[in-house]
Amino acid sequence: MNFKQNIRGNVALGVNPLGRKQQVLNHINYIKNKSSYEGPKKVLIIGASSSYGLATRISLAFGAGADTIGISYEKGPKSKRNLGTAGWYNNIAFKEAAEKEGLTAKNFVQDAFSHEIKQEVIEYIKNEFGGKVDLVVYSLASGRRTDPNTGQTYTSSIKAIGDSVVGPNINMQKEDYYTETLEPATEQEIADTVKVMGGEDWELWMEALKEADVLSDGVLTTNYSYLGSELNHPYYGNGTLGRAKADCDIKADAINGLLADINGKAQIVVATAVTTKASSVIPFFPVYCVGLYKVMTEKGTHETPIMHMDRIYRDMIYGENAEYDKEGRLRPDSWELDSDTQAQTKVLIEELNEENFNTDKTAYDLFYKEFSNLSGFMVDNYEDQDVTIEELKALDY
Ligand code: NAD
Repeated sequence: MNFKQNIRGNVALGVNPLGRKQQVLNHINYIKNKSSYEGPKKVLIIGASSSYGLATRISLAFGAGADTIGISYEKGPKSKRNLGTAGWYNNIAFKEAAEKEGLTAKNFVQDAFSHEIKQEVIEYIKNEFGGKVDLVVYSLASGRRTDPNTGQTYTSSIKAIGDSVVGPNINMQKEDYYTETLEPATEQEIADTVKVMGGEDWELWMEALKEADVLSDGVLTTNYSYLGSELNHPYYGNGTLGRAKADCDIKADAINGLLADINGKAQIVVATAVTTKASSVIPFFPVYCVGLYKVMTEKGTHETPIMHMDRIYRDMIYGENAEYDKEGRLRPDSWELDSDTQAQTKVLIEELNEENFNTDKTAYDLFYKEFSNLSGFMVDNYEDQDVTIEELKALDY
C-alpha cells in the first residue's frame, strides 16, 4: 500500500501507520539509550496517544519501568482511503513494545470527558492494575467537549480577547506566508473555551479517582500548561487559550485541597512550545516556532516532546533539578523563555517575509519535518514495507 502525505492548511489528513510505528520505536530507543530512573510504577495518562502525552508515557515506561493506562480518542482504519488517525497506530506500537518488556500497557480509546470512561478506568485499576495509581497525567487537547452532566457540547475557539490581532502566519500545505487577522472572542466563546480546555474535566477525574480510593498515598497529578512570552501573549496567553490555562491553575488549587489528606499534589507543568497536531493550528504560532527553533537549535536547547517530557520527569519531578515559579508551577519552559533566546527570536521573526520564511534563516524545514513526523512521514530510520489494509485492520490496540 502507498501512503501519501495529505495536508490541508496546517492539518494533516493522511497517515503512514508504519512511519508512526518507526517514530514510536525511535522515541523508545532515545529513552532506552539513557540510564533508567526511579519514578512512578502505576501511571494513568489522559490524552496518551500523541505528542506530550505519548512522550510522557514512553519516558515513564521505558525510563522508569512504569505500567501505564492510556486514554485517547482516535480512529482506526476503515478502508485504504481512510486509514484512521496517527494516534491509533501510536497506541498499538507503544503497547506492543511495552508488553515485550513485560510492562502493562492498557489503552482505552473513548471520550475522556464522559462519566462512563472514568468508571471503566476505575474498575480496571481496581481489578487488573493493582488497585491504585501513583501518577495521573492530564495531557488532553480537544476542540470539543460534551459536559457529562448536561449533555451539552461546547466548542473551543482560538481567539484574541479585547482587540483583534493582525500578524503573519504560515500555511504548510501551500508553503505560503500570509497575513492573518484574529478576531476577538465573544464572552460566550471565552467561556466555552474554558469549558473545553480549562481544568473542569481534570478536577472531575481526580474527584472520581479519589472517591473510588484508587489513588495511592502521595499521588501526583500533572497538567501541561503553556504561558509563552510577549511574542505570543496577544494570541495565546492573553487570548482564549490563556484563559483556559488560567482555569487549570485554579483547578490545581482545588485538587490540592482534595488530595491533602492522602498527601497528594496537583502540579501545573508549564511546558515548552513544540510542534504538535494541536499547536500547528494556533494562528501565528508556526511563525514563532520557526524563529524560536532556529535560535534554540543554534544554542543546543531545542527539544522535541520526547526530549522535553523525559527531562521533566527524569531530571525535574523525579530528579534534583526542578525549577518552580512563585505560583508553584514547574518551569521547564525556562529554556524557551531565556531572555537572550527571546530577544534573538524577536529580531529574527521581525525580519521574516514571503521570500525568506522557508530558507536557512529559519527552522522552517525542521518545523515541517516535525509536523510530517506526527503523521508518520519523513521519519528517521523508516524503511518502506508492504502492508495490506486487512493487516492494518487486524492490529489490536
Ligand atoms: P495532541 O493533540 O498531540 O494530543 C492530545 C491528546 O488528547 C491525544 O492523545 C488525543 O487522542 C487526546 N484526546 C483529545 N480529545 C479527547 C477526548 N475527548 N477523549 C480522550 N482523549 C482525547 O496535543 P498536545 O499538543 O500534546 O497537548 C497536550 C497538552 O499539552 C495540552 O493541554 C496543551 O495545551 C499542552 N501544551 C502543548 C504545548 C505545545 O506547544 N503543543 C505547549 C505547552 C503545553
